[in-house]
Amino acid sequence: MKKRSVAILIALTLPVVATAQQPGLEQAAATITEAGYAQRINVIAHDSMGGRNTPSAGLEMTAAWIAKELEQLGLRGGARDGSFIQRYPLRSIVVDSEASGLNAPGTRLVFGRDLIPVSGTTVTGNAQGGLILISGSGTLETSEARPFAGNHVIVVAPADSDGVDRSMRQRLSALITAGALSVMVTNSSGDESWTASARRALRPTVRKAWGERRAEGSFAPILQLRMSALREILEPHGINASSLQERSGSDIEARLVEGLELTLNQVVRDEGILAPNVVGILNGSDPALAEEYVVFSAHMDHVGIGEPDANGDTIFNGADDDASGTIAIVSVAEAMAALPVAPKRSMVFLLVSGEEKGLWGSEWYAENPSAPIEQYVANFNADMVGRNWPDTIVAIGKEHSDLGETLRRVNSEHPEIGMTAIDDLWPDERFYFRSDHYNFARKGVPILFFFNGTHDDYHGRDDEPNRIDHDKAARIAKLIFYLGVDIGNALNPPEWNPESYRQIVLGR
Ligand SMILES: [Zn+2]
Repeated sequence: MKKRSVAILIALTLPVVATAQQPGLEQAAATITEAGYAQRINVIAHDSMGGRNTPSAGLEMTAAWIAKELEQLGLRGGARDGSFIQRYPLRSIVVDSEASGLNAPGTRLVFGRDLIPVSGTTVTGNAQGGLILISGSGTLETSEARPFAGNHVIVVAPADSDGVDRSMRQRLSALITAGALSVMVTNSSGDESWTASARRALRPTVRKAWGERRAEGSFAPILQLRMSALREILEPHGINASSLQERSGSDIEARLVEGLELTLNQVVRDEGILAPNVVGILNGSDPALAEEYVVFSAHMDHVGIGEPDANGDTIFNGADDDASGTIAIVSVAEAMAALPVAPKRSMVFLLVSGEEKGLWGSEWYAENPSAPIEQYVANFNADMVGRNWPDTIVAIGKEHSDLGETLRRVNSEHPEIGMTAIDDLWPDERFYFRSDHYNFARKGVPILFFFNGTHDDYHGRDDEPNRIDHDKAARIAKLIFYLGVDIGNALNPPEWNPESYRQIVLGR
């Protein structure tokens, strides 16, 4: 017990000395400039990067460009094979609309023109069975466990129904549970709206290829069926589709169409693809502490290309979200690499993708890091640091570890930067759980998350590079640089507040 109290005393007195001894600190910080920042962000937030969706050609170009920047700074590649790009596995799932369709006697209905998949696209193969039509509204009473077994079910929706929302999807899923081979709900929208929905639905769905939540293959599909296509199916059987639709205010009714067989075949292509994270490492200068790592992160991806806005702009540039943080971290890397002697601990610069899809890249990295995650002592994440107030930046997570106190001290030692890190202004928004740092926090790595808050252009086509405050972002990068050097040289690694550790890491 006695020995331990001596060690604590040393810990309290030494770090300040260690930081002051870092040679060339100011000169290294001076490599971070407004002009340099502007030049770099204009590369990755440019229209030519196509909004950096995961996966996309623009994301690959961005990753390759960042990898080269880090390599030119003299860092080493942090992927397991020694390169700068770590790959993580995704699945691209798409319905083959040429090969898929619904056969009724005398008619072949095809995907895109007549049918739109809503869910269950992982179900493949031919499903042959009868047809049950449901019209009207209310609750169906049945004594059978699976009343629709062996049949396709078409739900004739009211004429003003033009899509399937979440609650409708839930109700339709109940028909699948009741044994339906497929559930099709009619759609009466006009050509333009139908075509747009079909185009959206037939794009590949991309998912992460690990840690999937549910088993696959056992779910029958839900589809939208064009009202005109239903008429084509029913006319030869003397059933008036429009009159079924007019029953929308009447009691619910399910009827089997005698003598009608439908065959639905859905061909799904499920392909493995890979997405990039970029990782560069500056080795620590102290042989003992070099096996501990400080990781700086930002996400290089955004949401890609969408429908044109009023000005015809289709590209979601994601300049603030999160080209701004990405370039801040590259700028910190440049300053670290410019130090004549590296900090004692190793510095990891991690630019992830898939953040916008669900923090994929950082989740993969936290599971597959360059060194065991226990050797990671801190994470500084920058996500949206180029807009809003010029002289303050919110630092989320301060209250959860002594990084908050270190930040306060480092910040007060550098008034020349003109940047004050302030508390979380929006605790109700739970931003602590909404960017890449969270994947480190839940693994036990203390974090700080630098974030300027949202704005009118957030996730819009107007999150353009020319709206970025380069000077502000460069000053935030300097603050993160000084903080990183401090933690890199500190005698002891940062510590969680016990209550926060219990809640965030242990989940109790
Ligand atoms: Zn973001």
